[in-house]
Amino acid sequence: MKKLVLASGNAGKLREFGQLLAPFDFEVLPQSAFNVPEADEPHVTFIENAIAKARHAARLTGLPALADDSGLCVSALGGAPGVFSARYAGEPKSDARNNARLIADLQGKADRRAHYVAVLVLMRHTEDPQPIVAEGEWHGEIVDAPRGEGGFGYDPYFLVPELNQTVAELPHEEKNRRSHRGQALAQLLARLRSGA
Ligand code: IMP
Repeated sequence: MKKLVLASGNAGKLREFGQLLAPFDFEVLPQSAFNVPEADEPHVTFIENAIAKARHAARLTGLPALADDSGLCVSALGGAPGVFSARYAGEPKSDARNNARLIADLQGKADRRAHYVAVLVLMRHTEDPQPIVAEGEWHGEIVDAPRGEGGFGYDPYFLVPELNQTVAELPHEEKNRRSHRGQALAQLLARLRSGA
């Protein structure tokens, strides 16, 4: 099996990517197994941050690397919180404070359109000129009152209009099927299947 380093410390992501990439002969290892510290994410686009994280992990391990970057983009806020989604209300990271800031920023605004974005980058080596890039988007609307207990982050405030449910109200499998991350991953797997 080919070793692949995941540029993340998230145990859930490690399990999920590990299961999905095993049929492609990849053994997915966390960057912590190689003492790789978290990379800086200095950029204002998801793709730049995902590339920076993948390159950092590839450089420090000498292995192919997979990175992801994701967040929420709100139309009336010019795409904010964007790459700052995790820390929208500052440090320490807090979903409750991020959501409070989001709802305050949208007060009096009629345009509630928003979308989640996820970008995945698989880099074969540090100087790979053509990493595999996959991107997913999930469109919805921000509501003022939270609904549901599932998911994380902005999910209780993110309404999927065609279901009239927030993401936090959806069963786990349904979120994974529809989500930005699910779509990006499906795209990445299709690219691998076609021999990319
Ligand atoms: P990361 O890519 O795991 O670092 O996630 C970035 C941030 O974007 C998270 O901390 C959340 O604030 C937000 N985010 C990304 N994906 C989701 C999601 O599926 N639901 C809710 N919030 C999300």
